[in-house]
Amino acid sequence: MKKFYITTPVYYVNDVPHIGHTYTTVAADVLARWHRELGDETFFLTGTDEHGAKIETKAGEMKIDPKAYADGISAKFLEAWQKLNISNDNFIRTTDEQHVKAVQTALQFMHDKGDIYLGKYEGLYCRGCEQYKSDRDLVDGLCPDHKVAPEKMSEECYSFRLSKYQDQLLELIKKDKLKILPANRKNEVVSFIEKEGLEDVSFSRKNIKWGIPIPWDKSHTVYVWADAFLNYLTGLGWDPSAGSPRPELGTKAGQAALKFWPPTVQLMSKDILRVHATIWQAMLLSLGLPTSETIFVHGYFQINGQKMGKSLGNVIAPDDLIKKYGVDASRYLIMSAAVFGHDGDISFEKFDEKYNADLANGLGNLTARVSNLIEKNNLEFNLKAGSDEKLVENFSKSMQAFQFDEALKILWLVLRAGDEVLSDKKPWKLEDKKAIEKILKPIAQNILDVAVLLKPFMPEVSEKIVAQFSAKQIKKGESLFPRI
Ligand SMILES: [Zn+2]
Repeated sequence: MKKFYITTPVYYVNDVPHIGHTYTTVAADVLARWHRELGDETFFLTGTDEHGAKIETKAGEMKIDPKAYADGISAKFLEAWQKLNISNDNFIRTTDEQHVKAVQTALQFMHDKGDIYLGKYEGLYCRGCEQYKSDRDLVDGLCPDHKVAPEKMSEECYSFRLSKYQDQLLELIKKDKLKILPANRKNEVVSFIEKEGLEDVSFSRKNIKWGIPIPWDKSHTVYVWADAFLNYLTGLGWDPSAGSPRPELGTKAGQAALKFWPPTVQLMSKDILRVHATIWQAMLLSLGLPTSETIFVHGYFQINGQKMGKSLGNVIAPDDLIKKYGVDASRYLIMSAAVFGHDGDISFEKFDEKYNADLANGLGNLTARVSNLIEKNNLEFNLKAGSDEKLVENFSKSMQAFQFDEALKILWLVLRAGDEVLSDKKPWKLEDKKAIEKILKPIAQNILDVAVLLKPFMPEVSEKIVAQFSAKQIKKGESLFPRI
């Protein structure tokens, strides 16, 4: 049996869920559901990233404990994913006790090995980004994301020997052993490593209390990146005792958790590609674990041609979509909005149009008309799904290539063809039962085939249509998508 392990990033609790998080999570869910349909042993992990200065500051402003603050936002993510019918197998929080212990064990291992050492860091630090900035990151001396001048800071810190792994990483990426998709993203990473080189990175902070204490020096906490990356291991239940994270030396439970290792696909947006392709993979090399198989980078959504942001008041939350369109339609609208891997432009106007065209008038109307005609004429079909091998093959090809919008287009071409046949042949005007059957049966078969393939995208609607169209006597069902 093949195994399929897919992850989203752990989402930082400085913000409530918006359509960016939703895009990554629904895409991961579609892939996870599809691989379960294929019979692959699947594990789908998502969760929240909860430590760091930004959280400490926010909680301080609200005069609450950082953990209480994190609890509140983390619950919002969990709730949003439950509403959206996300089928994750675990929801990891970086404040989970098991995660905290495992992070300490992993860093101790890397420290003992000599990969983490006491160094000093000097640089321009942006509090908003929680990152040191180089000159070329800045625009007119300001952080482009936060519009503030970063502060000059120097501090003692524990550093990770990222430089030591540079050649090994470059080799892995160039040879696609660590596959970075789409191809332009791979090229970006390769040219970054070749031109800039990889410098050692700070893995601890001295002045931030809200973090995991460095086990051998409690005056430091683990820098938020190093903490967050390890969720991909701890979220599987990885619990290294005996001082070693390596599966051959770890506990039985640790080894069992690692049966899914390494991640088959790690989905993310482009802002965190570089750190995932370098620091995270180098940590795995240091820990003696296999690196990720594939990193897939999807694009950003603009809202009506503008960057989404609180200041513009144009943030779309998952709840806004669900309330307006329902769960399955929201999932469809998000996944069909752009070529996966490219940026897209969305708006409620566009969603309304697409909802009416593809769902209310498309899938919903065709299903209603055909089932109504079948019931009226008392026809019996006994249809079995999967008759159209070519359709399954084309759909699967697009899914394998992460072309979700294309996979959906393939299905909608079939629905549209059915619509055309109906308009053309007008079976409602015919009297002869045999002639009516000859027109309706292939369309009903197509609807059933499409509905089965739609399952990863629209689990509930798919189930309804499949039940309706595989019944001996197909009956007109409820309206699936009321017009907006
Ligand atoms: Zn910044």
